[in-house]
Amino acid sequence: MTLDYSQIKSKLLEANTIVITSHQSPDGDAVGSSLAMYNFLKAIGKAATVILPDAFPVYYQWMSGADKVLFYDKQKETCDTLLASADFIFCLDYNNSKRVGPVQQALDNAKGFKMMIDHHPNPSECCDAVFSDISFCSTAQMVYEFITYLGYETTVDAAVGECIYCGIMTDTGSFRFASVTARTHEVVSHLKKAGVVHYRIHERVYDQNSLDRIRLQGFVLNEQLEHIPELKTTIIYLNKIDNATFNIQPGDTEGLVNIALSIKGTEVAAFFREDTDKIKISFRSKGTIEVNKLSEKYFDGGGHKNAAGGQSQQSIQQAIALYKNVLHEFL
Ligand code: 5GP
Ligand code: MN
Repeated sequence: MTLDYSQIKSKLLEANTIVITSHQSPDGDAVGSSLAMYNFLKAIGKAATVILPDAFPVYYQWMSGADKVLFYDKQKETCDTLLASADFIFCLDYNNSKRVGPVQQALDNAKGFKMMIDHHPNPSECCDAVFSDISFCSTAQMVYEFITYLGYETTVDAAVGECIYCGIMTDTGSFRFASVTARTHEVVSHLKKAGVVHYRIHERVYDQNSLDRIRLQGFVLNEQLEHIPELKTTIIYLNKIDNATFNIQPGDTEGLVNIALSIKGTEVAAFFREDTDKIKISFRSKGTIEVNKLSEKYFDGGGHKNAAGGQSQQSIQQAIALYKNVLHEFL
């Protein structure tokens, strides 16, 4: 799809009600790209509302506008009304309306102009305009590019820039993944000039852990880890009962699977977490192993080549057994 940005700009400037949406269990890129868009629109005099399916981790609460976000699981009626009346709806950091979970019906039924900005493979046809490109490290960087395509790069201030920086930082493992390009660093250079103090963002996201979270990490790595050299994998898991013991909050288990991947000889890592209604699974891999394909085929999920997620309705033991049985197909 070739996009006519002057037409998109006109639609945006004419819109009375603008809604910004992102995916379930919002991560740093979901929250960062949504609030970057929110703060950018505010800077050009356009009010918008961010609607997220459910809560994001407390360590993203510092972003400007975070206190204005509406959560669909808490304010369904207000969100339904807004989505139904919106003239312009942004779909950020997801490739399919299935990814917004309980928001899907209201989103699919919404009549407003929908624009997807996303870096996952195989975008569905749920939007009127689609800026989708897997070569970008993060949706947050794409929001920056979107702002430049509209000719508004000079409006990027520290509030917008901090949100973009947070999205890029969290989706690139702090600028280490292969997805980082020279352009990513160029964008960051612009953000620095706009007033972003980068080390403060690293501190707010990574150095504000609760004691419970650190103890949980110790517990999982010590007691809930299985390293299988023949399969080049490390599996970690967490049962429902441990949720209560460690007072687990949204985001507390983020990053654990990357620690598993860092173990020598591990090419694929998987984290199985027993939630109330399903087993939630995170996959990470090194090199050419495509965990999004594994997750799509066996765990009703998807994502990127080296970072994907999925779920299972079976028991945690059955889900882990299935993973061990099918892994060789992808090695
Ligand atoms: P995480 O393991 O951090 O939850 O997710 C890793 C990546 O996989 C992210 O890009 C995320 O958007 C994607 N992802 C996570 N869960 C799912 C899922 O259930 N379905 C799909 N299609 N993608 C997922
Ligand atoms: Mn992302």
